[in-house]
Amino acid sequence: MADVVIIGAGVAGIQAALDLADHNIHVHLIEREPTIGGHMAQLDKTFPTNDCSMCILSPKMVEVARHPDITIHTCSEVESVSGEVGSFRVRVRKHPRYIIEEECNGCGDCTLICPVEVYNRFDAGIGVRKAIYKPHAQAVPDIVIKDQEHCIECGLCYDVCGKEAILHEDEDHERLIDIEAASIIVATGYGTFDARNKRQLRYLAVPDVITSLEFERMINASGPTGGELRRLSDGKPPRSVAFIQCVGSRDIAAGRPYCSGVCCMYAMKNAMLIREKNPEVDVTVFYNDIRAYGKGYEEYYERAENLGVRFIRGFPGEVFEGGDHLIMVAEDTETGEVETFHPDLVVLSIGLEPAPGSEEIGTMLGIPHDKAGFFDVADRKVGPVLTVKPGIYVAGTATAPRDIPDSVTMGGAAAMRAYLDALRVG
Ligand code: SF4
Ligand code: SF4
Repeated sequence: MADVVIIGAGVAGIQAALDLADHNIHVHLIEREPTIGGHMAQLDKTFPTNDCSMCILSPKMVEVARHPDITIHTCSEVESVSGEVGSFRVRVRKHPRYIIEEECNGCGDCTLICPVEVYNRFDAGIGVRKAIYKPHAQAVPDIVIKDQEHCIECGLCYDVCGKEAILHEDEDHERLIDIEAASIIVATGYGTFDARNKRQLRYLAVPDVITSLEFERMINASGPTGGELRRLSDGKPPRSVAFIQCVGSRDIAAGRPYCSGVCCMYAMKNAMLIREKNPEVDVTVFYNDIRAYGKGYEEYYERAENLGVRFIRGFPGEVFEGGDHLIMVAEDTETGEVETFHPDLVVLSIGLEPAPGSEEIGTMLGIPHDKAGFFDVADRKVGPVLTVKPGIYVAGTATAPRDIPDSVTMGGAAAMRAYLDALRVG
């Protein structure tokens, strides 16, 4: 049976891979990061059930790793595509890890001894990692990567690795792989709005203004603070937290006119988690409209209110520093009252945007984007995973902002389309 290539190994790509592999179709799962899992691996809990995100995702990641019909290509990007449905030729560039993948057993001795600490992208910048590191504890594949840019070649890790798995040079591992595939599924996920573009909100200018993704890492028990809520300025627990919605969503001036669809819900979830763990902390959500559109979502909103989360319809124009706290002035547009707030921590609910590199992938595959830059589909009503190119399908947040259940559903739908192509080729 012909193979299928899936570009992107977030939850949509993982679901598509498992569905195809369970139907005896061999899948090549291409991921540019050193682990599969995508953004979902960064999240703490998921709405509307407040289930632990990794408790859902990690078993799927392990299943992918163990499945005989899935080949994982991490640190890899698609370089070119030719051919047509039934006989695509996909050229993949595998970037060097500076590790002999077959030898590394993920013991982590090298990361313990490495003296170099750098900004940790997985922890959204609020934690550090070593120059040789595992992206996170449940990474798949369960091996390390050496960050050659920051490595000072002290030699300590080479000495400690009993498997002699670490390489000084890795040119041999920068290689091209050619794959023949019946079809291609694009599940490249999303990027997040750069909150620095809203200068008045003082992100990165003031330490206690953080993004929602940083907050996710902070309240995650496996995150850099061990799940403790902390101000980044002085490490103290905040007495009051303010969430500001629609940062980079529904904002024509910022070039993001669309609703990101998930921010209201994830802010409610995070606000509830604070109140459940720290009932003494005041939590206020500043919003434009609350968009709780899915099954059980309105009830979730009510639950947040019942837990004491305060919702104010109105946005603070600016965030100011005010000694040991922040200052914001906002008008409640429902009552017309103008109030001054003094939160200890401000969380910006950043919007979703097309993943970096989407444009290049679209050009390479010959599939167009919509005005916002997400991949366009052939028919939004009856063909949500079809593109204008037969044999190329799209799934998940690569097509538009959407939540996890929708992304999983699309992954499954794209898999079944690809399955039919593979059957036809035989
Ligand atoms: Fe362990 Fe060596 Fe792999 Fe580091 S490179 S995790 S020391 S086996
Ligand atoms: Fe860290 Fe590089 Fe030294 Fe290894 S050689 S311990 S990666 S700094």
